[in-house]
Amino acid sequence: MTEIPSAQQPRSVSLGGRIVLATLGFCLLFTLVVVGLRTWSAWQSSLAVMSGELKLIAQVYERTLSKSIWEMDRESMQTHIASVVNVPSVGQVVVTLQSANRVPEVFRRTREGWQMSQLAPTLQTQLDYEVFPGTKETVGTFALYGDERVLWTRLRAEIANIVITQVAQSLLLAGLIMLLFSRLVTVHVRRIAQHLGQLTPSNLRQLLALDRPPSRQDELSQLVTGVNQLQSNLSDYLERQQRDEKELVAHRDHLADLVRERTTELENTNTRLEDANALLDGLARTDPLTGLANRRHFDEIKQIEFRRALRTGQPLSLLVCDIDFFKRYNDRYGHAAGDQCLRAVAEAMQTTCSRAGDLVARIGGEEFAILLPGIDAAHGAELAAHLCQAVAALAIPHQDSEAAAHVTISVGLAQLDAAQVERFDTLFDQADKALYQAKSQGRNQVVVHSPAAIALQSDTGSNHG
Ligand code: GH3
Ligand code: MG
Ligand code: MG
Repeated sequence: MTEIPSAQQPRSVSLGGRIVLATLGFCLLFTLVVVGLRTWSAWQSSLAVMSGELKLIAQVYERTLSKSIWEMDRESMQTHIASVVNVPSVGQVVVTLQSANRVPEVFRRTREGWQMSQLAPTLQTQLDYEVFPGTKETVGTFALYGDERVLWTRLRAEIANIVITQVAQSLLLAGLIMLLFSRLVTVHVRRIAQHLGQLTPSNLRQLLALDRPPSRQDELSQLVTGVNQLQSNLSDYLERQQRDEKELVAHRDHLADLVRERTTELENTNTRLEDANALLDGLARTDPLTGLANRRHFDEIKQIEFRRALRTGQPLSLLVCDIDFFKRYNDRYGHAAGDQCLRAVAEAMQTTCSRAGDLVARIGGEEFAILLPGIDAAHGAELAAHLCQAVAALAIPHQDSEAAAHVTISVGLAQLDAAQVERFDTLFDQADKALYQAKSQGRNQVVVHSPAAIALQSDTGSNHG
């Protein structure tokens, strides 16, 4: 929740206070106008009252004054004039006696401090005396001058009255408005502000209710409805959001599980693939009939061993072996027996050359090559002789062989001469030539390649040595 820093917070003035101030201001203005109007009106009515009073005085004294003038009773006339001037509204009384032959005589009586005024009313009337019924004689004039001070005194009292009434009215009105506003609006607005201030995501379902009859429908009830609607919408939105978040977390966990499962599967698949690849690799390098290394494997290894021998200077011997008269064997005993014979010969070779590093491979139909790293020609020749003996020891009958009554092999041997041989194929040719020589010398024997072409014969054949 963001709070406005106190330094920036404007000074708090209650709504009721503002309305009271506005009401008082309006009432003051209104009072001024009303006081002005009522003062003017009071002045006019005061003037009218004074005029009426002067008229009444004139009516009351007209007859008695006329009589005392006609009868020349100056004393009585003076008494009347004095009593007239005692009436509060009258400031001056002037009685003028008219006579045909004489200069008019003026009797004037003035109240103390009175001054001639344009504002106060004046009344001038003729004094007629009815000598006989129906016969009137003018005896003089009677002038009454109103006293302006009386007017002002009356007006002051009236103004005080008006001001007191208006101010009292204004104050009462302002107080009433303040009270009503406070009870009808302020207290509820405060309650709404408090409710909104306490709102948190967890209590959004607690709706706003004002402490007043629910039947009252006005702007406040609209505000309450709006606030509750907003809360309800917010609450729904938050609930939806929380639900979505939970679902998202569940999906994420599920996804993580799936990824883990798939990873494990992939790892297993990879392992299986590696195994299968290794198997395929093995199969690709193995002769299916005999289980020996095939030509391909032999070609790979021969290069490795050839380079190693060149690098280390260690001896490397190669035997090329071939079953004697094998075509005839097949012809006599059948192809299946030929296969069986091939397997037996291969096993005998593998058993004889089982030293680590020795490689026995089937490189053709009934041709075998044996790589002997670290073995020189003499030692190789011994091994080759053992090979021939091992095959002979199988005692596989071969009636059509010209070399023996059983299956025999011929072996050509060559040892690497690093000084002269640059390619393995040269070494192979040398061993092959030695084999050719063994064949041509009657088979069932070992021939070691050399310029002098040393020929060794197995136990079972000639040239053995
Ligand atoms: P030599 O003594 O001069 O080697 O005569 P040979 O008959 O052994 O040689 P040749 O090359 O004339 O015949 C090889 C025979 O080997 C021909 C073929 O029938 C036989 N052969 C080659 N591969 C297989 C095989 O996988 N199984 C069988 N059963 N016979 C095979
Ligand atoms: Mg052959
Ligand atoms: Mg052969």
